[in-house]
Amino acid sequence: MTIGVLGGGISGLSLAYFLQDHVEVEVLEAAPEPGGLLSSATVNGYTFDLHGGHILFSRDREVLELEKRLLRPNLVECRRNTKIWYRDRRVKYPFENGLGELPPGDRLACLQGVVEAHLRQAQGGPPPRNFHEWLLHTFGEGICRRYLWPYNEKIWKHPLDGMSTHWAGARLPLPPLEDILKSAMGIPTEGYTHQLNFYYPRRGGFQALARAVARRLRARVTTGFRIRSIRPRGGGWDVSDGRETRHYTRIASTLPIPTLLQALGDIPPGVRRAARGLRHNSLYAVLLGVDKPGLDDISWCYFPGPELFHKISFMNNYSPTMAPRGKSAVMAEITTPPGSPLWGKPDSWVARRVIEDLHGKWFHRRDVELAMVHRTPHAYVVYDLQSQRNIQTVLGYIHRRSIATTGRFAEWEYINSDMCIRRAWELAKRMARGRGLTGQ
Ligand SMILES: Cc1cc2nc3c(=O)[nH]c(=O)nc-3n(C[C@H](O)[C@H](O)[C@H](O)COP(=O)(O)OP(=O)(O)OC[C@H]3O[C@@H](n4cnc5c(N)ncnc54)[C@H](O)[C@@H]3O)c2cc1C
Repeated sequence: MTIGVLGGGISGLSLAYFLQDHVEVEVLEAAPEPGGLLSSATVNGYTFDLHGGHILFSRDREVLELEKRLLRPNLVECRRNTKIWYRDRRVKYPFENGLGELPPGDRLACLQGVVEAHLRQAQGGPPPRNFHEWLLHTFGEGICRRYLWPYNEKIWKHPLDGMSTHWAGARLPLPPLEDILKSAMGIPTEGYTHQLNFYYPRRGGFQALARAVARRLRARVTTGFRIRSIRPRGGGWDVSDGRETRHYTRIASTLPIPTLLQALGDIPPGVRRAARGLRHNSLYAVLLGVDKPGLDDISWCYFPGPELFHKISFMNNYSPTMAPRGKSAVMAEITTPPGSPLWGKPDSWVARRVIEDLHGKWFHRRDVELAMVHRTPHAYVVYDLQSQRNIQTVLGYIHRRSIATTGRFAEWEYINSDMCIRRAWELAKRMARGRGLTGQ
């Protein structure tokens, strides 16, 4: 029995890693090197994560330990120092832990909102029906108006009252009321503590994690193989890139759902409709080499305001090897729905806008000696109010055809690399026992 793993991002690589002691397994990857969304590149001495700034952290201690073990000694530990750019002042992140840095009027409005939200929650009442209401219900109006609504509208590019809430609690935990009160009084508190200390590869950018897994594979990884058709044959599957066909007893897909369905070809209309309803955002990463040292000591900064980007990362505060000595590697991230007018803009326009928006903040436009734009077609899953039903319809169909799935866009789930590894691990256990197919 040979299992074909479709896609060589961290999900595909980890699945092969966990399966290889039990069955014969092979990974097929379109790109010249595996890594997928974890890929990084080094240009003129600057290293960037091509698909947005990544950090290593997890609530899953077993997976975090595995990731650290795989990377050591190529690993540095960092303390998060993150800000929100609020009306030309830098406020500590998460915003609710930075209230003490706001002007008194803003501070009062935020506190009042938090207290009202807690009172409403204590009184019970109907649960929030959408993400807009969930934010209000959880954080109160003051924080929502100043940061959470504008920031989330900017990153999701989707009306917040048209987004579901099922994912929000896990991604946006609310600190205890006491912490918010303390922070408003100027007493330092920390939020999102599972991410307060994070890790990063010393060299090579975040792709070092994918490379560390790939190095430990005895399984064959075929790169440059862009899967175009998948057809059942003799109880197994023929997988072809149009030039060559490989045969597997079973397949596990980590490809984005639309790519898998296209390769399968003959899809029932109801499934096709549900798949068309799946929403996601694409991403521009604007990679800047700045001929200036020590721009700041912050890790990254969020921008809820009019700037084109929603986040800036200072990559050499993750690891000093990310920029040549005396210089700085800066990355801006911009989301956009696929096919939007913004996605149609030339790279040069996007880079120019980002440099203009940054001019005078940490550096001047003349300091920029390298500017590159990298496009990620599938970056963020966007959960609208139909998402859960559509995902169920599509995955139900794929699993009924005995194709296993695992991964961010293979399962259309807003998960990080740690969860990808956990899901691949669980799937491998089931596949090795010859059982169930879903990554959940
Ligand atoms: C902006 C951003 C920030 C993030 N920040 C973090 C973070 O801080 N920490 C963290 O842990 N995670 C973070 N993540 C999430 C992390 O990147 C993903 O969860 C993870 O990389 C997904 O891995 P995957 O293998 O499931 O998917 P992918 O990496 O997308 O892998 C799919 C693979 O399939 C290949 N493929 C596609 N089509 C074909 C085809 N036709 N034939 C063959 N191969 C094909 C692709 O080339 C790719 O290698 C972030 C993601 C984004 C977008």
